[in-house]
Amino acid sequence: MKFIGAHVSAAGGVSNAPLNAKNIGAKAFALFTKNQRRWSAKPIHSGEIEKFHINLEESGISTEHILPHDSYLINLGHPDKEKRKKSFDAFLDEVQRCELLGLKYLNFHPGSHLRLVSEDECLAIVGESLNRILEITEGVTLVIENTAGQGSNVGYRFEHLAYIIDKVEDKSRVGVCLDTCHLFAAGYDIRTREAYEKTMREFEEIIGFKYLKGVHLNDAKSKLGSRVDRHHSIGKGNLGIDSFSFLMNDERFSNVPMVLETIEPILWPKEIKLLYGLMEE
Ligand SMILES: [Zn+2]
Ligand SMILES: [Zn+2]
Repeated sequence: MKFIGAHVSAAGGVSNAPLNAKNIGAKAFALFTKNQRRWSAKPIHSGEIEKFHINLEESGISTEHILPHDSYLINLGHPDKEKRKKSFDAFLDEVQRCELLGLKYLNFHPGSHLRLVSEDECLAIVGESLNRILEITEGVTLVIENTAGQGSNVGYRFEHLAYIIDKVEDKSRVGVCLDTCHLFAAGYDIRTREAYEKTMREFEEIIGFKYLKGVHLNDAKSKLGSRVDRHHSIGKGNLGIDSFSFLMNDERFSNVPMVLETIEPILWPKEIKLLYGLMEE
């Protein structure tokens, strides 16, 4: 079974997210548990947690299919120790918010080397940060997202994600989220059956589908290998509808949250229907 949804708004409180998901016909969703453009946030109070669970129950969506996303400010691979501490503390707070809400996953972008250290050094720093977080938290699996490789972001090669996973001691609490737009921008083609199978074979060989915990469903305004991160609505970008048809009919992508981060939220109900419609019986 496929569990498709979108990155819905949590404006007015996290408890609104499950209802926003339900309203667009989603079977999965992503959310920010705090303002993604700020470093700090007020703790989530117990009433809000209770409301979140009541609304979640009403939405019929299971915590298995919720993929919270961390703040865009966080860089766990920051080469500067002081600045990394700020990111570490903010990330710890994000993990603890997920713990409090009873959520299973936290999706994050690995980090940036800021041209101060090599890619490998940056990836090793990310791995160390994850180990420290895993030691002092419980129950939340940290889900590394593949990136487009824009600027000095690491994580655009499968090898980068595998390198981080290799550094993580508790492999039961680390996973991967595949973003289709980022994949394409990083140079992985999925537009033809042949290209799709080749990319997924590489993913299996280098990372392994057992680490797959989620998918970001985005068409791409950017070109293959451009390393530019520009999402587009499903079927309107350079990936095109066939790419998504391959994905929707691939058993290896069953049972994980598949979340739209496309540019026109008004289209999400249509896009969800369109994607389910691509499934062949
Ligand atoms: Zn994404
Ligand atoms: Zn993106």
